[in-house]
Amino acid sequence: MKTIRDFNLYGKRVLIRVDFNVPIKDGVITDDNRIKASLETINAAIKKEAKVILLSHLGRVKEESDLAKNDLLPVSKRLSELLGKDVLFISKTRGPELENAIANMKNGDVLLIQNTRYEDLDGKKESSNDPELGKYWASLGDIFINDAFGTSHRAHASNVGIASILPSGIGFLVEKELNAMLPVIKNPTHPFTVILGGSKVSDKIGVIKNLIDKCDYLLIGGGMAFTFLKAKGIAIGKSLLEEEYLDYCREILSNTDKIILPVDFIVSDSLESDKCEIKETMEDNDMGLDIGPKTIELFRKYVDNSKTIIWNGPVGVFENPLYQNGTKSICSMFNKNQTVIIGGGDSASAVINLGYKDNVTHISTGGGASLELLEGKILPGIEVINKWS
Ligand code: AMP
Repeated sequence: MKTIRDFNLYGKRVLIRVDFNVPIKDGVITDDNRIKASLETINAAIKKEAKVILLSHLGRVKEESDLAKNDLLPVSKRLSELLGKDVLFISKTRGPELENAIANMKNGDVLLIQNTRYEDLDGKKESSNDPELGKYWASLGDIFINDAFGTSHRAHASNVGIASILPSGIGFLVEKELNAMLPVIKNPTHPFTVILGGSKVSDKIGVIKNLIDKCDYLLIGGGMAFTFLKAKGIAIGKSLLEEEYLDYCREILSNTDKIILPVDFIVSDSLESDKCEIKETMEDNDMGLDIGPKTIELFRKYVDNSKTIIWNGPVGVFENPLYQNGTKSICSMFNKNQTVIIGGGDSASAVINLGYKDNVTHISTGGGASLELLEGKILPGIEVINKWS
């Protein structure tokens, strides 16, 4: 697959799709990690004296009132600070102002186009990959680089639309994600353990299907463990249950002995209560909100014995300090001789926020995109780049 290194960028109008979908509260960016993650690619294009034109989405735009809160202006200011140079922000997604600004760019200049999802207001043009929109944006550049891993599982006008027309490659962030995850998913060094958590079985079925034959052990915690436990006839009180997946869980449990389930829990009678206790057997009024100490030791035996680990989903309600211990303990189990991949989303923020990011090999920046890689799917935003190889 072509990467940014394979192009002569000098003097070219280079459209780079980045992921600037950062949290913004009252006009202030509360976490700029996604902007930082794009700097390597942007700086490389500046160094090669390209005219750097950036596209990104921010939030969802469904109605007029969504426009102001999803304006990319604060992002352009922060980007300018991080790059240490001016960033020209055009508050439109099309039209003469944008076209003239691009025509006047000098080599090494950086321009940011307004939130691509502003186009969703008019018939979801960005999110439904409207061909005219992709063609229009492609007309603004000579080369396209996809560095937005987090949106690569979606076929939008600003990635698939443009890449279908312009010579295209991937940026350093996307390259890093694919190089870290694909070899592990396709050809892991054994013993290979998958740890799944989070709230729902239904969200993880694709991952289970794709990895159950490849892995040696599948450790399941979090809310999703309870549907499996119930399927085995174990009492789960009022813990999270997906009734309609009981048969699925029963079937998969009867076909494999690789699945390891929790044997004790931190329970409470409600999420709001500040009282909790450790239990091995749940009563009707108990809600399981974290794995207990025996489960932690059980999981540790499998993790200790593994060369490769993929983890997706916290094993408890880690947002509440009362139910953090299971997730924190898992973070602390990994060692430097293991390859440890953290799927994006909640498990990524758990590892980072609990202070364990140096304990792992790779933390994916894309929740949905990394989940689809784990499901063995081909991401449309990447597949379209392959055709330029
Ligand atoms: P997901 O987005 O599916 O990875 O789910 C992450 C969410 O699962 C987090 O917000 C956790 O609070 C939640 N979660 C983890 N364990 C449990 C549990 N035992 N009961 C309910 N929710 C849980």
